[in-house]
Amino acid sequence: MKTSFRSILLLGFVWIVVSFFPLKPHVTAENPPFYGYTAESSRAERQWEEKMRAIPDPKMAREYMEHLTAHPHNVGSPYDKENAEWILAKFKEFGLDARIETFSVLFPTPKERLVELVEGGPRFTARLQEPSLAVDPTSGQTDEQLPTYNAYSIDGDVTGQLVYVNYGTPEDYEVLERRGVSVKGAIVIARYGRSWRGIKPLVGAEHGAIGCIIYSDPRDDGYSGGEVFPDGPWRPKDGVQRGSVQDSTVFMGDPLTPGVGATPDAKRVPLKEAQTLTKIPVLPISYADAEPLLSAIRGPVAPHEWRGGLPITYRIGPGPAKVHLKVFSNWDQKPLYDVIAKIPGSEYPDEWVIRGNHHDAWVNGAEDPISGMVTVLEEARAMGDLVKQGWKPKRTMIYCAWDGEEPGLLGSTEWVETHVDELKKHAVVYINSDSNSRGFLELEGSHTLEHFTNDVARDIPDPETKLTVWKRAQLKEIADASSADERREIRDRQDIRLDMLGGGSDHAPFINFAGIASLGIGFAGEDHGGIYHSIYDDFYWYTHFSDTDFTYSRALSQTGGTLMMRMADADLLPFQFANFADDVRMYVREVEKFATQQRDDITERNLKIQEGVFTATDDPRETWVGPKKEDVPPHLNFAPLDNAVEDLARSSAEYQKVLDRASANGATALGKHSVAEVNQLLIQSERRLTTPEGLPGRFWYKHELYAPGAYTGYAAKAIPAVRENLEQKKWKEAEQAAARVAQVLENEAALINEASAKLSALAK
Ligand SMILES: [Zn+2]
Repeated sequence: MKTSFRSILLLGFVWIVVSFFPLKPHVTAENPPFYGYTAESSRAERQWEEKMRAIPDPKMAREYMEHLTAHPHNVGSPYDKENAEWILAKFKEFGLDARIETFSVLFPTPKERLVELVEGGPRFTARLQEPSLAVDPTSGQTDEQLPTYNAYSIDGDVTGQLVYVNYGTPEDYEVLERRGVSVKGAIVIARYGRSWRGIKPLVGAEHGAIGCIIYSDPRDDGYSGGEVFPDGPWRPKDGVQRGSVQDSTVFMGDPLTPGVGATPDAKRVPLKEAQTLTKIPVLPISYADAEPLLSAIRGPVAPHEWRGGLPITYRIGPGPAKVHLKVFSNWDQKPLYDVIAKIPGSEYPDEWVIRGNHHDAWVNGAEDPISGMVTVLEEARAMGDLVKQGWKPKRTMIYCAWDGEEPGLLGSTEWVETHVDELKKHAVVYINSDSNSRGFLELEGSHTLEHFTNDVARDIPDPETKLTVWKRAQLKEIADASSADERREIRDRQDIRLDMLGGGSDHAPFINFAGIASLGIGFAGEDHGGIYHSIYDDFYWYTHFSDTDFTYSRALSQTGGTLMMRMADADLLPFQFANFADDVRMYVREVEKFATQQRDDITERNLKIQEGVFTATDDPRETWVGPKKEDVPPHLNFAPLDNAVEDLARSSAEYQKVLDRASANGATALGKHSVAEVNQLLIQSERRLTTPEGLPGRFWYKHELYAPGAYTGYAAKAIPAVRENLEQKKWKEAEQAAARVAQVLENEAALINEASAKLSALAK
């Protein structure tokens, strides 16, 4: 699909010849206009896009990565600032109008760290250090590396018996309760995985634990996966996953400036009132450090699913293993350097199409985040090149390199909070990436953009097969589907469904806080390994074990670049509501099914209690605590939601009908000046899905369709206000939330109707 300059000239010639002669049927049969484009603007767009896709160069991406990962570049480090200035210079060199915006945020770094086994086994002090490796040159930059730690753990010096809590999710604590094990006054040891790491100390503290240790188990992240680094890509025994444990339930970003930008003069909450720090001290360790601790635990043998990959018998405790845990941090303010670059729009400069990736890392960060960052740089270079060749985007393009993503989406959040009023007026879309490797295009984001995103993916060649990245993604979905129904849907549906965006990257302030339609893109699925947030995530690792020839880097630049251009140049913004209504219907069905499931589960458990199932089957020689009877939840009234789904479906179908009419005969109607009024409504369509007060108890999360789960962290929940009330068995509140979400959907349907009316006037 790489188009040479000669063939572009030839295409241009054919286009001129064809458009001067009335051979329309032939042309339209070949290339139907892009969604939201007139036939004429679509032809021009197609040529510019093809030129753009020929520009990204794997050699350049490799060079950028080598430079940006040459030293550790965490928030507050000298190389973090140097990288920001280097990225600024690159954007300028490409011809973009770029500058750095700075913020000041709370960013703790370790002062004292200690984990020691003081009773119940041979005395042992954890190493808490990742060794340098001779073959891996940057792993030896010890003086510049942040020690292994979990940022935003409170300070503490605690000693307590150890309890193994599996992944430390609420469900794991139900198992502990059945086994009569309490974590009150204990230190919990949880393995990484399943839930976001910040959830582990949160749930531990809720159950009375006084400290939390998180370790990487080799079953999930180590030798069970394959050869360990440097012989293979997997986590070595002393590798540690750093990471933030900031409590993101209520808000994201700088803990001292909730909901507002962390500008120098912003009002700051005093440190001791900061509500997103953990309640108990927490530290991450390697599996080499975890083994002596875990093997000193006695008590019940852990359930089968709880057992990891260490050569020990996993037991729950409590104790007799007793651990001394000490964590103290320097609680300093650190500067953030966001690099923001613009290409002004020629027709609609006040409509912004935004793209971003973060540039800060925990250590050298080749995969996370530089493999994503370099694709954004190559994309920006391509756009600059097109501008030099005479192309002008209709809308303003903004390219962002965020600082401070790792500690808690700080750079993006503070920027969005600072500019939220302008963004709500002007932002059309935000497209995020965070890392990249070989494999399948991952599609996630706002469902109003589902059709648009699928269309773009159909135009990107996959580097390893002769397929498009769309086809490859679809076939992968068929391969992974778990039922015949699922496979049938994937085969029959025109577009692949987008996954919901959860937490965990810089899209969150855009979609959750500001209500800006967002997408997350990246290739993944073929490269595996275990260097996440360790000193080994570096240039050596990436160029030996991941997208080693940077061809997927090029593919991601092509994908991101095409999404940006096609959104920036559209006559009518390519939001589409038919897919959206279908996705919303699915999510509503799911939440209703969940409510029924809960009724059934509680009814069934009550019956088992009554029958004596637990007393008959729990081994009397072991400690078991039978579950208690619960009230069966009432039937809830979801009728308002069902009605809203129907209204949404009707409005969407009508919009599609009107659009089809407006798209007849070369879609010239879409070229009319007053299409701008329809676009204004479309820009607001995602904002309509938010409420000013946000989710219950979570003011920062204003989007009513998606949010990262309060007890899952990264993973998204659909219709979260209803879902989470159900999970917490607050039936009345769940019903009230259903009515509120229904109103939000009705508002959306009204906006779509308004857009249809305006579009219909154009089509006349
Ligand atoms: Zn990242």
